[in-house]
Amino acid sequence: MKIIEYYTAEKKEHWLNEIGKCDWGAGQYLYQLLRENNLKKMVGETALVPMLVDGDKLVAFCTLAPLDDIQPTELSPWIGFVYTYPEYRGHRYAGLVLDYAESIATVMGREYIYISTNHTGLYEKYGYEFLKMEKDMGGEDSRIYRKALAEDGPDKDRRYENGARWKAEIIKEVRKGVDMTAYCGFSCNHCFLGEWCGGCRSAFSCCSYGTMYDKGVCPNIDCCRKKGIDGCYECEELDECTKGFYRPDNDGTNACKAQAMFIRKYGKEKFFQVHDKLHEIYDFKKTQEILGTSVEEGLKILEGV
Ligand code: SF4
Ligand code: SF4
Repeated sequence: MKIIEYYTAEKKEHWLNEIGKCDWGAGQYLYQLLRENNLKKMVGETALVPMLVDGDKLVAFCTLAPLDDIQPTELSPWIGFVYTYPEYRGHRYAGLVLDYAESIATVMGREYIYISTNHTGLYEKYGYEFLKMEKDMGGEDSRIYRKALAEDGPDKDRRYENGARWKAEIIKEVRKGVDMTAYCGFSCNHCFLGEWCGGCRSAFSCCSYGTMYDKGVCPNIDCCRKKGIDGCYECEELDECTKGFYRPDNDGTNACKAQAMFIRKYGKEKFFQVHDKLHEIYDFKKTQEILGTSVEEGLKILEGV
């Protein structure tokens, strides 16, 4: 048996059909959300579906996402849709998918992880404690459990080590064949957070800016999608725009806009070539360190390169 993740799995269609065989109403709902590609819209961009598999058979699954069925809430992240197939019950296999989710959340620096459930006495076995009652999105009472992830000790060390490995595997997979031009104008290929983020067009965008917003979608992405454009570099309002990452009080605004303007003028191919060179010539972590003085200066530096 091994744990794989739905969005990055080979034979995704097969695993979707396996989830569809689940005899539980909530499992059928998850099947429908995945089939219609709506899970991330509902619970957040960084949603994952860890699955314990036995050859071609699905043993257990759950979700790990910024949100679940308690919305709106300040609490995050959540484990949801925990299910073990009848023939595999009684072996605590659910604990393996929970551990996978908890490990990824640990690596993402979360202090607690939450579960909304009707069960009493189940999640306590996996180290969860009852926190409070809340109404779920359907108006029903739900028991909220949480588990502390940040307490130092061997458990955290083990989760961190495994979580780092699992997250790196996910990042590697989701980046394959994806355009690494960020909507705002950054290069996700050259981003200092690239090791931890799939890029904002991937199935696992952990953009530190995006995660501050509802369901992990940054305002620039949301705006581009609504306008039906590929990125801010295709927008007529780019020069004057103060939305999202272009907010005047953001220290990365000038550098980011300069890059979007460069793409608008010279295209993505040149942009990536210039970025490669930029890293050969200058020593920097964030582009604002060299392109941040002003949009005009930033653009000039990129053109000079
Ligand atoms: S943090 Fe933002 S710019 Fe960096 S790789 Fe992720 S989406 Fe791209
Ligand atoms: S208005 Fe601003 S955020 Fe929206 S697409 Fe245009 S440049 Fe991007």
